[in-house]
Amino acid sequence: MPASRALIADLCAVLPRGRVLTEPEDLLVHGYDGTWLDQTPDVVVAVTSTEEIAAVLRIARRHQMPVIPRGGGSGLAGGAVPHAGGIVLSTTLMHHILALDAHSLTAVVQPGVVNAALQAAAERHGLFYPPDPASLNQATIGGNVATSASGPRCLKYGGTKDYVIGLEVVLPDGDVVRLGGRSHQPGPDHHLLRLFVGSEGTLGVISEVTVRLLPKPAARGTVMAAFDHLEEAARAVGTVLSGGILPLALEMMDQITLRCVEEYLQAGLPTESEAVLLIDVDGDEMSIPDQLDTVVQACRSAGATIVEPASSEEDSARLWRARRSTSSSFGRIRPNKLGEDISVPRSAIPAMVRAVQEIAARYNLLIPLFGHIGDGNLHPNILCDLRDAAEMERVALAAREIFAEALRLGGTLSGEHGIGLLKRAFMPASVDSAALALMRQIKRTLDPDNLLNPGKLLSDVALSPVLTIGDGRATPGFAVSPGS
Ligand SMILES: Cc1cc2nc3c(=O)[nH]c(=O)nc-3n(C[C@H](O)[C@H](O)[C@H](O)COP(=O)(O)OP(=O)(O)OC[C@H]3O[C@@H](n4cnc5c(N)ncnc54)[C@H](O)[C@@H]3O)c2cc1C
Repeated sequence: MPASRALIADLCAVLPRGRVLTEPEDLLVHGYDGTWLDQTPDVVVAVTSTEEIAAVLRIARRHQMPVIPRGGGSGLAGGAVPHAGGIVLSTTLMHHILALDAHSLTAVVQPGVVNAALQAAAERHGLFYPPDPASLNQATIGGNVATSASGPRCLKYGGTKDYVIGLEVVLPDGDVVRLGGRSHQPGPDHHLLRLFVGSEGTLGVISEVTVRLLPKPAARGTVMAAFDHLEEAARAVGTVLSGGILPLALEMMDQITLRCVEEYLQAGLPTESEAVLLIDVDGDEMSIPDQLDTVVQACRSAGATIVEPASSEEDSARLWRARRSTSSSFGRIRPNKLGEDISVPRSAIPAMVRAVQEIAARYNLLIPLFGHIGDGNLHPNILCDLRDAAEMERVALAAREIFAEALRLGGTLSGEHGIGLLKRAFMPASVDSAALALMRQIKRTLDPDNLLNPGKLLSDVALSPVLTIGDGRATPGFAVSPGS
């Protein structure tokens, strides 16, 4: 539905015409994220300041128009998809690092700063920002905060939520609130600050982020361990983690993943193995050989058939490039995928791996499995073709069973990608009903008109048709994002 003239006129009164976008091609490229969900918004605005965000939210309220905050559009839960139309508010022009203080170990950034840009800036000062989603070249810090993103290094150092010490947030009524600051010590408003981390753009638009940084560890080493059986690799996680050191990262790729990545990158991966663990250690130079030795021994004793420490930084980079290319490589086999993000207690990893294999066989689906296995965070990716209605029915049922099994094993719906549209139907199964009611109450208090990213995370509004796993049905009206 085209935006009303009055809305466009009001937006153009506070933003230059070139940053109020209504051309079909502009709307199209702001209607998707990393899922297959896709819906063109009514209008896109590209903001450059907190004041502009506030002005847009006030206008939206006057026109009772939904606003969908959008960073890099790499989300994997449909969070930035304007499924009910509205104004997409893009932060990508707010991409400046406002301050980087090497003495107080902090950085203040605008929300549209890309994760990799912050990493690079910190490293230029001998510092280190640990949260490293595999999408780091696309995802923004605002999006990372909104989804509470993690990454391989979070096994040792914790995720985004552990690094945000200050936030500026524009509330749905246009008021601006500043929480926390540059002190590493949490202040009395710390828990209020945490409310916005992982709120998926439903409670406020994050307009500035202060993060703490760490000194960059001097050295790093990588081990690749290959296993003949996937379950052996899953069990090896416990062996490695009880070996007396905490690795920087402990990632897993199963055989389908290995084969897809190998075809895509020719990285020299052992494709005959059922699974590979990629384990990194870091610390001072002297400690690396011992740490690597501990990991190598643990992998051997857990039954690894190949255990190879990386021979150089380039060799390590090759292996990590392979790990980061998993999602992209699946497009070579099937046009679409439902990328899942369950998290289970570490003791339940072997059972979860077994369950995914069994579900894949029962529904005759290809479900490659990879992820931050050291954290119990697994990404079963159900490969599919959206045009095949019968297959999509099986995908929906398989996804439902994977969620149910993760919850039964004491896990959660999402380790890091958030709930968005894709998993909201499962919230009642995963969150205590009183807690869910409280979440709704908080949403109503901050956003009484339900205009900020409505229908995400909590599905308490009337929704336009959308394919969610919980509905178990594909509904026309949503275009397919090829290769997403
Ligand atoms: C190949 C690939 C690999 C990935 N690997 C990982 C991984 O390892 N770990 C991980 O955690 N995730 C991963 N992701 C998922 C995704 O990159 C993260 O969820 C990321 O944090 C999203 O950032 P974004 O800027 O792209 O946000 P978007 O997709 O634009 O938005 C995501 C959500 O955040 C909200 N939002 C965005 N900006 C703001 C803001 N300024 N204020 C309020 N709300 C906002 C949106 O409304 C939406 O709900 C991966 C995705 C891909 C495609």
